[in-house]
Amino acid sequence: MLGPVILAASRSEQLRRIVSAAPVTKPVVTRFIAGETSEETLPVVKDLADRGLEVTLDVLGEDVTDPAEALRARDAYLGLVEALRPLGLGTRAEMSIKLSSFGQALPGGHDLALKNATAVVEAAAEIGTTVTLDMEDHTTVDSTLAIHAELRRRFPETGAVVQSYLFRTEDDCRDLAAAGSRVRLVKGAYKEPASVAHQDKHQVDLAYVRCLNILMAGTGYPMIGSHDPRLIAVTQELALRHGRALDAYEFQMLYGIRTEEQHRLAAEGHRMRVYTAYGTDWYGYFMRRLAERPANLAFFLRSLVTK
Ligand code: FAD
Repeated sequence: MLGPVILAASRSEQLRRIVSAAPVTKPVVTRFIAGETSEETLPVVKDLADRGLEVTLDVLGEDVTDPAEALRARDAYLGLVEALRPLGLGTRAEMSIKLSSFGQALPGGHDLALKNATAVVEAAAEIGTTVTLDMEDHTTVDSTLAIHAELRRRFPETGAVVQSYLFRTEDDCRDLAAAGSRVRLVKGAYKEPASVAHQDKHQVDLAYVRCLNILMAGTGYPMIGSHDPRLIAVTQELALRHGRALDAYEFQMLYGIRTEEQHRLAAEGHRMRVYTAYGTDWYGYFMRRLAERPANLAFFLRSLVTK
């Protein structure tokens, strides 16, 4: 019941200001956010890489309101590429971008987001790494998948994300699997209406397994973005059934969530990529993490009263 309320709050400008300014918020936020700057975050990346984990880096930001802000978001990623260059990690450190931070929702935003994303994908390719386009709310899916298809003409390794809660996603998986894409499958983190998305968690999980089966049977590279132990077990079974070697798919989890499980899977020889978000604009990302697990909210509220 609490999840949808928190998700609605994640879009409130007033709450954003209050929560972001509260000094007690910071220690809770740092559980999920690796740092505020790339200087603070790169040692975390190096440490994860040294311990056999891979990363995808997200410079926090979404829903920009003017083209200049979108350019600043693009430049933050170009700065990240330069910071990653000397580490020489190649695809072990890739990047995830939200097209809403590149201007997708502005007038003419599809083309603007494509242009900004192209600059980042080109720079990433220069240092031997890749980019995955995060998926946001359902109104953006057609535009995001079209931008993904366009980017793949020159950079076929560009990744897409699909959300099992959306009714359309099985069809999208069929298209992407046949096209040989890198595809991250997640349950979905936004508040979506019943006209487009399963509302029942169990239905979302069943849809996840159907989508996973399509991706595993296809010619692409599935990226399993989930912390759910049952889905991790199903992935391992499907990999066996479809004859996929350990390097023909990967697990992905969020920084700060089920860390021990991340290390366990890597130690078993799996490719394990940690989605590592950093930056100052953490409100929307943080609120979605609270919505996923009421226990996180309790932890957050407790920290407010015990300070
Ligand atoms: P759940 O059923 O939510 O959780 C299973 C178990 O994992 C829980 O019982 C708990 O033990 C643990 N867990 C899960 N979430 C939390 C948490 N917040 N705090 C503490 N423990 C937790 N969503 C999008 O809509 N678009 C994206 O582009 C996107 N990219 C993602 C990238 C990655 C690498 C991952 C892992 C998730 C991404 N998500 C994205 C979020 C995703 O849609 C889910 O909201 C989120 O992963 C929770 O679902 P779950 O599969 O982990 O299963």
